[in-house]
Amino acid sequence: MSDREDQSLGFETLAVRAGQHRTAESEHSEPIFPTSSYVFESAAAAAARFSGEQPGNIYSRFTNPTVRCFEERLAALEGGERCVATASGMSAIYATCAGLLQAGDHIVSSRSIFGSTTLLFTNYLHKFGVETRFVAQHDLDAWAQAIRPETRLLFLETPSNPLTEVADISALADLAHANNCLLVVDNCFCTPALQQPLALGADIVIHSATKYLDGQGRCVGGAVVGSEAVVGESVYGFLRTCGPTMSAFNAWVFLKGLETLSIRMQAHCASAQVLAEWLQQQSAVSRVYYPGLASHPQHQLAASQQSGFGGIVSFEVKGGKQAAWRVIDATRICSITANLGDTKTTITHPATTTHGRLTAGQRAEAGLTDGLIRVAVGLENIDDLCADLAGGLAN
Ligand SMILES: *Cc1c(COP(=O)(O)O)cnc(C)c1O
Repeated sequence: MSDREDQSLGFETLAVRAGQHRTAESEHSEPIFPTSSYVFESAAAAAARFSGEQPGNIYSRFTNPTVRCFEERLAALEGGERCVATASGMSAIYATCAGLLQAGDHIVSSRSIFGSTTLLFTNYLHKFGVETRFVAQHDLDAWAQAIRPETRLLFLETPSNPLTEVADISALADLAHANNCLLVVDNCFCTPALQQPLALGADIVIHSATKYLDGQGRCVGGAVVGSEAVVGESVYGFLRTCGPTMSAFNAWVFLKGLETLSIRMQAHCASAQVLAEWLQQQSAVSRVYYPGLASHPQHQLAASQQSGFGGIVSFEVKGGKQAAWRVIDATRICSITANLGDTKTTITHPATTTHGRLTAGQRAEAGLTDGLIRVAVGLENIDDLCADLAGGLAN
């Protein structure tokens, strides 16, 4: 497949093939282009490139063939017209806001979003006159009431971190469009292998490629996917001028990650389901948060908008922080790290790490108790993982 993507092809085919433009060297695997600039045949050709009269590469802050291959492949997987790759997930969110918003504009955001995203909205966008109102993810009335005439974006992550709250993407897309707003969905937890927000009505999909798209904990990167008009003009326009672009090497690593995304996500989901059901049976565990459990309050919604329930399981142990730390410290296989979306299982105590900067009151409001543990289930043997967690639960 080269210059055109056939959207009738299956997801797994696109994940392996889309975006590749083979060069005259007949290479089979996608090449890495580590070049900052590109040469022109003549002064006139340079002028034609710069004026936009002739398409083509000029400089790798604008375009790079390896990065473009990643962008075309991810756009095909999300079903979007255009993808713009960025240096990190945070720069994807920042480029989206900076490209689309101006002073006086307003964002309505779920309260259950990534901590740095909250800080970006409250500390930095605020400095430039963009205000954000935070609402409870599942409360549609609260979203509706928070919208003002100057609201431009609704922003959410689903399932949320770490409590796996599921937002109704179609309902929020309808609300956004009825109010001339765009719906932005951070699709980090599901990836397009499990959920395609654009098909459900969202306007923009954000990725931290750092997580499942790489899937092996190697590189930091991000992406924005949506229409040519929104992403191709506003977001790309910001990016090529302001510069948080993805490197060619990282794009190549993410390309290789995409090739195995579908089978990895299926394996993450299968193991997470087993782990969640096993945790529910442990007497030291008071509550398990996983959308694949019938006991999850939005189990039906998750089943209708996702094709799998994801790899993140959170659970509460009896005995608060001490008990939670004991479980974490007793593990020998799980990595104690805040990252997620890796072949290696990671274990986190949100109250003292990812959400440690919130006040105790804010944590309580968000339902983040001191006994809460988040596990991003990797690809190790699931019996080994249960045994690893059993150590600290039995004490
Ligand atoms: C990690 C993460 C981000 C930020 O991505 P970086 O690549 O670390 O900049 C944004 N959203 C979610 C849901 C994340 O998990």
